Amino acid sequence: MTTDCIFCNIVNGNTDTIFLYEDNTLVVFKDINPHAPVHLLVVPKKHIRSINDIEPSDHAIVSALIGAGKNMASQTGIAASGYKLVFNVERGGGQMIFHLHLHLLGGWKR
Ligand code: AMP
Ligand code: ZN
Repeated sequence: MTTDCIFCNIVNGNTDTIFLYEDNTLVVFKDINPHAPVHLLVVPKKHIRSINDIEPSDHAIVSALIGAGKNMASQTGIAASGYKLVFNVERGGGQMIFHLHLHLLGGWKR
């Protein structure tokens, strides 16, 4: 927990963010500024800065993020039409919040 980290505050329940899914490892909530008809964030409870910082002992967490992304794609009805799972890594990769998160984007009409 890093008190000045917005996502630590969200995962710890210190905000009014609604969780679409929660387990011991992660939470899922809607992106506040969606870039797709469905845009969810899958966020580990553990504070990890970015993909650059994952240790081998964090691999189960990363795997859980991807599994939750897949499950939420199915639950939101975008699995068959298709979607993106995206990690932005550091500033050059578009990362703005330095607490690891997986973007689930989809639901476009194609
Ligand atoms: P990134 O650029 O990969 O760091 O993505 C950060 C994402 O977090 C952006 O898409 C923001 O719109 C989103 N975001 C920032 N603050 C909040 C918040 N309080 N609740 C939900 N999403 C947020
Ligand atoms: Zn954090």
